[in-house]
Order: sequence, then structure tokens, then C-alpha cells
Amino acid sequence: MSLAERAPAHVRGISPYVPGKPLEALARETGLRTQDVIKLASNENPLGMSPGARAAMESALGELQRYPDGGGFALKAELARAHGVPPEAIVLGNGSGDVLELAARAFLAPDASAVCSQYAFAVYPLAVMATGARLIEVPARAWGHDIAALGDAIAADTRVVFIANPNNPTGTFLPAALIEAFLARVPGDVLVVLDEAYVEYLPDEVRYDSVAWLARHPNLLVTRTFSKIHGLAGLRVGYALAHPDVAALLDRVRQPFNVNVLAQVAACGALADTAFVARSRAANREGMRQIVAGLDALNLRHIPSLGNFVSFHVGDAARVDAALQRRGVIVRPLASYAMPAWLRVTVGSPGENARFLDALERALKE
Ligand SMILES: *Cc1c(COP(=O)(O)O)cnc(C)c1O
Repeated sequence: MSLAERAPAHVRGISPYVPGKPLEALARETGLRTQDVIKLASNENPLGMSPGARAAMESALGELQRYPDGGGFALKAELARAHGVPPEAIVLGNGSGDVLELAARAFLAPDASAVCSQYAFAVYPLAVMATGARLIEVPARAWGHDIAALGDAIAADTRVVFIANPNNPTGTFLPAALIEAFLARVPGDVLVVLDEAYVEYLPDEVRYDSVAWLARHPNLLVTRTFSKIHGLAGLRVGYALAHPDVAALLDRVRQPFNVNVLAQVAACGALADTAFVARSRAANREGMRQIVAGLDALNLRHIPSLGNFVSFHVGDAARVDAALQRRGVIVRPLASYAMPAWLRVTVGSPGENARFLDALERALKE
């Protein structure tokens, strides 16, 4: 038996995460200049990063010979103030993906199971499978989470349920009342991970206060990220809010210095930069309108999305994706989500959105 064959079956069985194609990769492949390629594939912020975050990082550049504060004191203090929770209720991560994995590692083992929805964020199955736990995937309803079915799927050995709200890649949304009802019925010894990577994009009418639920539901863990609306995807910083006992368990399985010096100061700067968040949110609303109008004009079915991206149906998505790439436009094919007829596009700047729609129209005619 080879060394690779000796790896545990649950590790060998993992299909790796398929990321959006990097800009430089398409430039290399096509001979296009990087400045002539647009990437609308990874839900990155078209406005760039928060200027408050940039200023904070510039002032910290002289400190990189030092290890970060492994306890994240300053960032936790800011987050605690912003959310009205004690610092002990916060777990910092190298992106919120790190925190999702910590939750899986802290609570799952080969004798346990975890529940998530079909078409839910791909990191959940990966995090679960790495622990050797069994994954229970619940069929989606209208592309979104079937919250009643998720509750019904909880087995005696289930320790974690993952919910993304809004979900990526479908953009679907569960109203607060449904999640509250779900929390009321889930056994207290099952951790509910509520992934709110896109929560800042929600329109006022559907906003809700998940942090307030933590007091009533010590089995709830809410995750947030600086990757999306704060424009810091490349830096890797996110966090979880949870009961301090739960937070302490996640802390046991994380690397001591999992969030780097620049990420910690940038996150503090980004939190204070509320103007940038407001600007990003407004720009996304307009850009979403532009893209949806363009998809409608092309008679393409799409899944209504409350995130900064939208998934649309093109039939032979691999062919359309290739044709878009030849025109220097990178979107995200969803074959790895078992949606081979669909593409996901991130809301870009008005110019990027126009260029995407133009390239799409031509690609469809090819
Ligand atoms: C982008 C995204 C995240 C954030 O990932 P980071 O590791 O924080 O960059 C988390 N959950 C969902 C559903 C996402 O789409």
C-alpha cells in the first residue's frame, strides 16, 4: 500500500474546493493583459478595500517582525463594543472559513454527523469530511435551505448544523422568523452555525439581530467576515460570536497566531469605517439592479439573490464560461455545486457589469 493510500478514507474522499479562477491565470492562458481581464468570480468588493483598513495597515507595517497578539485583544474589544457582547464570546479566524473549520473540528468526530443543505456553501462539506464525521445533505427547496427539513434531518449523533444566510452560491435568504423557530426546536446539544458572510448587504426590510439570539440560544454560533463588504478578502480575517463556553472550545483547536498582525489592525480600521460599508452596500444595490436587468433582457433565468452575486441559467455553462473567458471575463461555473447549467457572477463596478453583460450576450450567440 502506498503512503497516499494509507491516508484515512475520509480524507481521500474529499473533493478539493474549486475557487474562482485568478485574474493572472486567465491572463497567462489567453495572452490578455491583466488590466484587460475582469474577475467577477469570488464575490470580492469592486470598490476595493476599506480606506480605514488601509490606513491602519500602513501604520502597522513597522511591526511585522513581531508575532500577532494571539488573543486578538484590540480587535476583540472593538468587536465586543460593536456587537454588545463580551470579548470572551468572540473567536477570531484567518477568514471566516477558518472559524467554520474550527467549529467542525471542535464538535465533530468520526462517530458524529453534521447537517447542511444541498447547494449550501462548499466549505461546510469540506470541513465536515476532514473530521471523518458523516455529512447529512438535505435537499434544497427552491434553491434555498428547507429549514423544516433541516430540523427533521437532525439525527441522534448530529452535533452541528450549518446554515448560510444569505447562502452562497444561490443568494437565497431565510427570514428571521424561520431561523428563530428553527433555533427553538433544535436540541440544545446541537451547534447551529449561522454563516452571515453577506449580512451587511441585506436590505433594511429583512434585517434581523442574530446576535441578540445568542443570549437565548447558547448552542448558536454566528460567523461574519471582513472578506466581502469590507473588501479584505486577500487579507483573511473573520470571526464567530458564540457562548463563551463554545468560543473556548473553538479556541482550543485553532493555531495560536491564526490571525496576522495586518489583518487584526485592518479589521479594526474596517469596523470603524462605516462610510465605506454604506457606500459598498449602495453600490451593490445599483449593480445588482444593472445585472438583473441585463439578465432579464437576455431572457436568462436567475435566482433572486440578497448577496453581492447572482446565479443564472445558461444551459451549457461550460461552453458559455469558456466563451466569456476568451473575452477576458471570469465568472464562477457552478458544476462543483452540481449546478452544471448555471454560472454565478459577482456584482462589479458599473463598467465591469456592462462589460460582463456585453460579453455574455456575444458568448450566448457563439
Ligand atoms: C465568502 C464566504 C465566506 C467568507 O469566507 P472568508 O473565509 O471569510 O473569506 C463565508 N461563507 C460564505 C457563505 C461565503 O460565501
